[in-house]
Amino acid sequence: MFLDDEIEVLNPDLPRGGFRSVLFDFDGTLSLIREGWPEIMIPMMVDVLRQTRTKETDAELTAAVDDFVMRLNGRQTIYQMIQLAEEVRRRGSVPLEPLAYKHRYHDLLMERIRGRLADLESGVAKPEDWTVPGSRALLAALKERGVALYLASGTDLRYVLHEAELLGLTPYFGEHIHGAMDEYKNFSKQMVVEQIIASQRLHGRELLGFGDGFVEIEEVKKAGGVAIAVASDEAKRQGVNAWKRNRLIQAGADVVIPEYRRHQRLLEYLFEPSP
Ligand SMILES: [Mg+2]
Repeated sequence: MFLDDEIEVLNPDLPRGGFRSVLFDFDGTLSLIREGWPEIMIPMMVDVLRQTRTKETDAELTAAVDDFVMRLNGRQTIYQMIQLAEEVRRRGSVPLEPLAYKHRYHDLLMERIRGRLADLESGVAKPEDWTVPGSRALLAALKERGVALYLASGTDLRYVLHEAELLGLTPYFGEHIHGAMDEYKNFSKQMVVEQIIASQRLHGRELLGFGDGFVEIEEVKKAGGVAIAVASDEAKRQGVNAWKRNRLIQAGADVVIPEYRRHQRLLEYLFEPSP
């Protein structure tokens, strides 16, 4: 069922009206600064696997890498690198430490996004240039409704804090910004969800989540919450990315939207009590 031409409701029975806390993913859900990251990560990993002298073609390696990278999207980057090391081992070679791969990836990604960060820092670019359309209006509207906002990202916390600041998003979340840490076992989206539920004394159905990754949709659903899939087309910035939509429906999404241009209609629907 469609509420309008953009808001697709997959679960018309979702519990509405009682949300008290809202959890957001960062990259692809609010921030577009890291747009294009798979185009960096996937070729880098194919390159690493190529060194194992496997007989697989580049196309086969790309398909294999794409699969695990996207399945793990939303968890901390280190898990994608742990899987890469495992794939190297499975092909009979000795991998580097996952952390070494993560650093290599980060350096390559920085080459791609350095200009974006510099433009935001100098004011040449405005926050709207690098956020999912409608993000700030949505956050402001949620704040007005008095719900608590949380941000949880698989990107390292120090970068999330900096990038959220550059995008003018910090005031909406205050202290509630979570991200990956070197001690990676001390952070997961599941832990953040559990923390929110415990500290706010929530029932699952009072939790609303927004994300463009498999993991956050799954975690919000596991906790009994309502999950909004943001199937953003990060390059075009308009319309649904069909590939993301399909993955996020598999993860259990209740609603799919392309971005937040219709946030008012969406919130009216979500905050109107279920009949
Ligand atoms: Mg994301």
